[in-house]
Amino acid sequence: MRPLAEVDRASLRGLRGVLFDLDDTVLSHGVLTRAAYEAIWSLHDAGLHLVAVTGRPSGWGEVLARQWPIDGAVTENGAVHVVRDGIGVTIDEGGEPADVAVRRERLALLVATVAEKVPRARLADDVHARRSDVAWDIGERDKLDPETIAAIAHEIVAAGARTTRSSVHIHATYERDDKASGAVRFLRERFGEDPGAALGRWAFVGDSGNDAACFSAFRLTFGVANVRAHLRQLSLPPRWVASKERGEGFAEIAAKILSAR
Ligand SMILES: [Mg+2]
Repeated sequence: MRPLAEVDRASLRGLRGVLFDLDDTVLSHGVLTRAAYEAIWSLHDAGLHLVAVTGRPSGWGEVLARQWPIDGAVTENGAVHVVRDGIGVTIDEGGEPADVAVRRERLALLVATVAEKVPRARLADDVHARRSDVAWDIGERDKLDPETIAAIAHEIVAAGARTTRSSVHIHATYERDDKASGAVRFLRERFGEDPGAALGRWAFVGDSGNDAACFSAFRLTFGVANVRAHLRQLSLPPRWVASKERGEGFAEIAAKILSAR
């Protein structure tokens, strides 16, 4: 990772938009600070498209896509897309309804297994707003030790599901998309972007393990300073790193992007 000050302005000039993670990237311990929200508006006012790319539920994405100056949200770690559509939203569950229903049944079985095998595990408090995945709280309201988190991950993998984790949750899903493939699919369907070109025309900002796919796929990648605590979960770190953490770091990155325009 190189400091933000070393980003060359030429590489930022051709940007079409910015993809950003929510928890501990734009949000600071769950809170949208004035600095972060102002940074989002500044990017929007400069003509950049904005898409949230998050492990949070599609139900959260519906609210964000209606209320924030963004084009939509790639939610549940890539699986479910919420697209701003006039004053409303359209939702893409990423599959045929019958397939989605089958995957949901398999997830319900997995939830029961984890409850039996890892009684210490608690579901995240946002699971009711999810369509395609399930999440257990590891660092939001609850703080789980690494052994318990590993035990949950073991049950997820044993059930044939995929797992990923953010700073707050560990997720399980039977969907195919990760944050990167989901984001590229969103950009192709919403903006007609060529998948290869999109990787160079959109920047990504994130902080933790479930951002690994995007840090590896996109060429202009930024981490907020707290990404340093999650480097072991990243096969590739972000190219550039802010000096500040969370929402303050996001505002710092946004200012750098805007300074090149
Ligand atoms: Mg995050």
